[in-house]
Amino acid sequence: MSSVMVKRTRIETEKGDITCERVDAIVNAANHTLLGGGGVDGAIHRAAGPELLAACKLLGGCDTGDAKITKGYGLPAKHVIHTVGPVYSESGPNAARRLASCHRRSLELALENDLKSVSFPAISCGVYGYPVDEAAHVAANTVVEFVTEHKGLELVRFVLFDDRAFQAFSEQLERAAGVGEFKP
Ligand code: ADP
Repeated sequence: MSSVMVKRTRIETEKGDITCERVDAIVNAANHTLLGGGGVDGAIHRAAGPELLAACKLLGGCDTGDAKITKGYGLPAKHVIHTVGPVYSESGPNAARRLASCHRRSLELALENDLKSVSFPAISCGVYGYPVDEAAHVAANTVVEFVTEHKGLELVRFVLFDDRAFQAFSEQLERAAGVGEFKP
């Protein structure tokens, strides 16, 4: 596990299952419809129960790089922030900007809702095919930059399901915490 302090925000990596996180919000790597899918999306909907799908039906979908918020229903997390990552093979040079936008929009929504702790999965690193080292670089730098510029978040966690992602995110987080400006 890596843990760094950036201004007043702790940023951590942990290996585990994001559906078990007891935080103000977990981030869901959803698809455009917000009506459920496989991977982490499926796991979150199973753990939250049918009320989550009912709430998502009212949101009218979500664009790539944007985010929308619901309650957490049956989850230990109080809220779910649903974001849509880029499909790597379809995004070309826009992939990093879109992935950075997912992280930024999710944290903006957290602040707008007065949330203090947020856990992210490895957005786009499953069926959306983003190479995990590249995704970790974008995610870590974007979060470090966001909390450098915005007050209010106490804890941001990256909760990674497998060793490979855990290692990549831990390395990139430690690197990003020592770096300044990041422009994807
Ligand atoms: P995407 O469509 O954005 O690629 P996926 O759900 O396919 O999303 O995968 C995103 C990442 O989430 C992958 O690295 C996958 O291993 C991971 N993942 C799957 N289930 C969980 C879970 N319960 N907790 C945390 N991460 C998970």
